[in-house]
Amino acid sequence: MSRIEVDRDRCVGSGTCEALAPAVFEVDDDGVLAVLRPEPAEDELPDVRDAVQACPTRALALAD
Ligand code: SF4
Repeated sequence: MSRIEVDRDRCVGSGTCEALAPAVFEVDDDGVLAVLRPEPAEDELPDVRDAVQACPTRALALAD
């Protein structure tokens, strides 16, 4: 099971992750990120990997 790790000191609330994987990430109006599914299902992993790659501040990681 893969687990999403967030470095909250780095996250700037850009919403890029939500745009790429809206089932897993949600950024509220104040730019605070919520990880809706910290242990995403297998079929969600491609979108999550895209989000990890695309995060502008490299705040996301996927740990096995
Ligand atoms: S893409 Fe990165 S910086 Fe933007 S909201 Fe997601 S975790 Fe935060």
